[in-house]
Amino acid sequence: MQNVSNKICGMCGSSNLISDRSLGGKIVCVKCGSSFIRSKGILYSRNKNFYYFLLILLVILLVIIF
Ligand SMILES: [Zn+2]
Repeated sequence: MQNVSNKICGMCGSSNLISDRSLGGKIVCVKCGSSFIRSKGILYSRNKNFYYFLLILLVILLVIIF
C-alpha cells in the first residue's frame, strides 16, 4: 500500500488514497472506497481559471456601469 499525492477522490474529495495491490495497483479512496480519482492539480487550475473569468466579468460590468 502506498500513499498517492496530488490526487483526490472524485466522489468525496478526500486526499486519503491508497494504491490497492489486490486490485492490480488501482488507486482507491480510503474513506468511501471509490476508484474515481481526480488530479488535485487539474482541479486547482480549473478553479483558478474560474476565478480569473469571474474577475474579468466583474471588470467588464464595472466598465459598463461607470
Ligand atoms: Zn472518497
